[in-house]
Amino acid sequence: MKTLNTLLGAVAALSLFAVSANAQTYPERSITMVVPFSAGGPTDTVARLVAESMSKDLGQQIIVENVGGAGGTLGAGRVAQADPDGYTVLLHHIGMATSATLYRKLAYDTLNAFEYVGLVTEVPMTIVARKNLEPTDLKGLVDYVKANKDTVTVANAGIGAASHLCGMMFMSAIETPLTTVPYKGTGPAMTDLLGGQVDIMCDQTTNTTKQIQGGTIKAYAVTSPERLKVFPDLQTTAEGGLSNLQVGIWHGVYTPKGTPAEVNERLSKALQVALKDPNVVARFGELGTEPSSDADATPAALKTKLEGEIARWKPVIEAAGQYAD
Ligand code: ASP
Repeated sequence: MKTLNTLLGAVAALSLFAVSANAQTYPERSITMVVPFSAGGPTDTVARLVAESMSKDLGQQIIVENVGGAGGTLGAGRVAQADPDGYTVLLHHIGMATSATLYRKLAYDTLNAFEYVGLVTEVPMTIVARKNLEPTDLKGLVDYVKANKDTVTVANAGIGAASHLCGMMFMSAIETPLTTVPYKGTGPAMTDLLGGQVDIMCDQTTNTTKQIQGGTIKAYAVTSPERLKVFPDLQTTAEGGLSNLQVGIWHGVYTPKGTPAEVNERLSKALQVALKDPNVVARFGELGTEPSSDADATPAALKTKLEGEIARWKPVIEAAGQYAD
């Protein structure tokens, strides 16, 4: 028995050594960052900016892989099942919290399937429409939508996506259900909005700023409590009469459950460096957002945020009684 215990102790010590030895030399090869939405969309834009800068600090390439579908749950599920070795990470947004309730048959247990790296940024949403939609302000849009409720279409990135959440909040605020059109991300949804195949969308400024500034889509409101520096003339939802429609889309980086704490800390440090990179700060500013602080870009802050947000959205979703399955 003593021999068995000694043997087990030696095996445990060896595997501990293996983990810490790996953590010390980590990363030794390229890292895959899964984005659970299509390329070219807002989550993808944030991920690519941050990944490029983190790569420099880590001395290894971070390759962004887009795994879109089912409102971000397919990509999150992919990472939940990946090896917990620090070579697969997930960059996801608020949908990580809302999908925990929206999907009653999720393939992973949100609070038990991941480790945490840190918060990245919180991005406001904008209510936008195809360029030739008639109304000129939010009040006019609401009247138009109510009068045309059987034909107006709303694009989103599937149930659990930020655009879905914001679209639902919009319909609930104006007490008018509308036809929704799901995509694998709001990158392709934006293409259809530009082409006039869908009428309206609520999406992060990281996807809408360029088009709003270029006049290729119409903007009606921003969902932040204050107006944004990038659009000083664009009213807030509260100013336009929809004070219940306020939402910020926070983004975080996760690893699969069991990833060594030293690895998550190393990734967190690289994230903090990236979020202070002048290029990242400038691009975020141009896109209407700001990087998270050092204190927020930590495993503990993201864990607290996710737990708090699951608890916050659960009763709201349950009260609405609309689930993805
Ligand atoms: N903005 C999308 C959403 O609705 C996601 C994306 O395409 O990045 O969540």
